[in-house]
Amino acid sequence: MYGDMMKNLIKKAAKDIAAAKRITALTGAGISVESGIPPFRGKNGLWEKIDPMKYAHIDYFLQNPADVWNKFLKEMRSVISQAQPNDAHRGLAKLEEMNLLQTVITQNIDGLHQMAGNTDVIEFHGNFAWLRCLECNAVCQIGDADLSEIPPKCSCGGLYRPDSVFFGEMIPPLHLKRSHEIASACDLMLVVGTSALVQPAALMPVIARNSGAKIIEINPEATPLTGSTSNYLLMGTAGEIMNNIITELEGIAA
Ligand code: NAD
Ligand code: ZN
Repeated sequence: MYGDMMKNLIKKAAKDIAAAKRITALTGAGISVESGIPPFRGKNGLWEKIDPMKYAHIDYFLQNPADVWNKFLKEMRSVISQAQPNDAHRGLAKLEEMNLLQTVITQNIDGLHQMAGNTDVIEFHGNFAWLRCLECNAVCQIGDADLSEIPPKCSCGGLYRPDSVFFGEMIPPLHLKRSHEIASACDLMLVVGTSALVQPAALMPVIARNSGAKIIEINPEATPLTGSTSNYLLMGTAGEIMNNIITELEGIAA
């Protein structure tokens, strides 16, 4: 179904992956689109319904938590709780199983990489599976939270927030530090389904490239990394491209 140029690029990617010694993946919302979770930007993105720079911003959440819960967080919760890993998540888990991938740095908060089987996942923006009380810091699994009253509250009366990073907040320093280390130590980075517009996550491929790594992008659209930071772009959906790469790699290994 792909043209010759794409087939050759997939072969090239498989060869590069097989030859690399330390591979890292950086993933974004696009890798979970085929699991039914809408991204922020791009086609069918949340952006078409709400402005994430407002609803996913800490300042607005603190001003109007009920509005953020009603228009954004409730829906994210129901979408994420039903989502299962797709072929792209499974492909990255398979790469780890084949000893070809060490670490996944993800901007996603959906937990699907761990569910697929990757064991070293840096959740750059935290995880949406947990809520944290703004008053006493107690955590609660989002599935156990009582959402009959919005915004949901802890037993101490404090407000629950998702234990993930809002725009306007810092990346947990340990995650940031380790991501820097991993990005500068890898010799190949797979950049899957990220628009590369959200900082500082988008810096990781730049750090990797400056340290001599090859950067392979998988995305149906070009990004600011394309043609500069990335060596090449495999243009297509993450699940299908990953399946083709794995098939190719199994051919090399056989
Ligand atoms: P983004 O929404 O800015 O960009 C999504 C990217 O995915 C685009 O470049 C788009 O072309 C690409 N894409 C769309 N469909 C794809 C597919 N089938 N296969 C591969 N790529 C596809 O996402 P971002 O760069 O991750 O940044 C947005 C922020 O939103 C992140 O910080 C993340 O934390 C958060 N977010 C997370 C989730 C999630 O956890 N699944 C969902 C929405 C937003
Ligand atoms: Zn509390």
